[in-house]
Amino acid sequence: MTLQERDKKHLWHPLTQHKLYADHLAITKAKGALLFDDRGNKYIDGIASWYTCMYGHCNDYITNRVANQMKQLDQVVFAGFTHEPAIKLSEELMKILPKNQQKIFFSDNGSTAVDVALKMALQYHFNKGEKRGKIIALENGFHGDTFGAMSVSGLSIYNGCFEDFFIDVARIPVPSKENFESVKQQFIKLLETTNVAAFIYEPLVQGAAAMKMYDAHLLDELLGLAKQYNTLTIADEVMTGFGKTGKYFASEYLVNQPDIICMAKSLTGGLVPMAITSCTQNVYDAFLSEDLVKGFFHGHTYSANPIACTAALAGIELLQSDEIKEKIKRLIASHQQFDKHIKEHPKVKETRQLGVIYALDINVNMERYGSLRDKLFKFFMNKGVFLRPLGNTIYMLTPYIITDKQLEKVYNTIEEALEIV
Ligand SMILES: *Cc1c(COP(=O)(O)O)cnc(C)c1O
Repeated sequence: MTLQERDKKHLWHPLTQHKLYADHLAITKAKGALLFDDRGNKYIDGIASWYTCMYGHCNDYITNRVANQMKQLDQVVFAGFTHEPAIKLSEELMKILPKNQQKIFFSDNGSTAVDVALKMALQYHFNKGEKRGKIIALENGFHGDTFGAMSVSGLSIYNGCFEDFFIDVARIPVPSKENFESVKQQFIKLLETTNVAAFIYEPLVQGAAAMKMYDAHLLDELLGLAKQYNTLTIADEVMTGFGKTGKYFASEYLVNQPDIICMAKSLTGGLVPMAITSCTQNVYDAFLSEDLVKGFFHGHTYSANPIACTAALAGIELLQSDEIKEKIKRLIASHQQFDKHIKEHPKVKETRQLGVIYALDINVNMERYGSLRDKLFKFFMNKGVFLRPLGNTIYMLTPYIITDKQLEKVYNTIEEALEIV
């Protein structure tokens, strides 16, 4: 039996309707920007396996460091104990995070990083004797699949039957030049109820909404307003963090810095799962008390796993290296070059780029919208390029270390794909 056949017996895949999508391609190996399947084919990983493996798959620098750590200290309870990988990671993160961030709290994935942020925000006000139960979020935002994260996500296709169990969330449209006055008024109206604990947003790029981008000045103004009303601000940088926007964090494009930041995905360079929620001294201080229950009683068994911390440390070192900085610059310039050329194509409706994130909307009538995604996906895979179109959007978020030749192939394949739609 092939791996694909054996897969069908006991496995239930994420985000999958198995009746419609029964077959799962078996990947046996990955290196650099390449994935290898069990049939002898290789694919360029055009989305860095959901924006995790930014330094390349099975990066030797990271895997060697992790292998050494595995022999030294594998796992220990982080309630009551500490260890150097976590300490060192906190020190290194402080060098690249926005200056107002002072404390880091560990969890296991992007969704839990968001849940931690929401609980922090709710308890922050509770500890100060203020009952604030509402969260403001952006329409079409995506923050994860656990209950808290799902509640603040605005992509309803994922949420269906769970809506009755959501935490209290008010949604505002993503600000644009056209709607800004109205969005601002809605936002102020909500803030004036003084019941709003926090405003959560994906800074500048909404990933799951097909890499929708919005203006830093407009977000900045909303953040300024939130601060006036003592509403905490939560930047979900799970997708945008660690260099993808051309800065370490998308928040660096803004004047107003968030009180809380969520990180995951490429935090560990794709090697192992781990997430971090960072916050300001002010947020942390609201939990300090003689009163035990004012502490933050949230924890995961694998919190601050030393192996994951070591992977993150190695990744952050790479991120700050001249080599990776050069590669990021090259990738940004290269996308700009491609954009100049492709945006004139009659099948291209709109293009957008921030840092190494590049997206292109195809001009297509709505009847064909549903099947288009599958058709494009198959086309790309047959050509040896792994891209996951979202609706009529093709986006690229390749590993920083993708070679020029591989990049050229991704561009050419996208251009060829425009001929089949
Ligand atoms: C992927 C993602 C999440 C969820 O992270 P998981 O690790 O999949 O739980 C949350 N927020 C954003 C912006 C994401 O892109």
